[in-house]
Amino acid sequence: MIYLQPIGLVSHELLVKLSKELERKISKITGGVTILEPLDLPWQCYNPQRRQFNSTCILKLMEPRWITLGIISEDLYADGMNFVFGEAELYGSRAIVSIYRLKGPRLFERLVKESTHEIGHVLGLMHCKNRYCVMSFSNSLYEVDLKTSEFCETCKSKLSIRP
Ligand code: ZN
Ligand code: ZN
Repeated sequence: MIYLQPIGLVSHELLVKLSKELERKISKITGGVTILEPLDLPWQCYNPQRRQFNSTCILKLMEPRWITLGIISEDLYADGMNFVFGEAELYGSRAIVSIYRLKGPRLFERLVKESTHEIGHVLGLMHCKNRYCVMSFSNSLYEVDLKTSEFCETCKSKLSIRP
């Protein structure tokens, strides 16, 4: 099951749309999608100098149900990075995506890509060198828009060996 966990204010309409798309794309591997009640913004993870939330800190606060995907409207950073679109526990259970930097007319498709990417990490996939594969690492919106929302054949074959 994928548990969509809104953190702070997130458009319910967007979450419903995302849940339907993830259901269509990936529920054969993960099971269906459930939208959870929103969590309050975790201010203990906020860095006032940076005006960003620490994604690693938030991940640790989320209940580790397989697979929990946090969606947040605030900007995220991780140690050593100016910002991150999201973060996930590799082969773990939790992931988070921020919509803060995905905004624009392509917000929804970007959110689908980054959500699928982080779920891919939870399923054990590493970054992929294929720029069109959803598992390729994106450091800019240009790269997000360049890749597709699909796993390449190599990544797909790794997914299929999971129990
Ligand atoms: Zn990644
Ligand atoms: Zn790939």
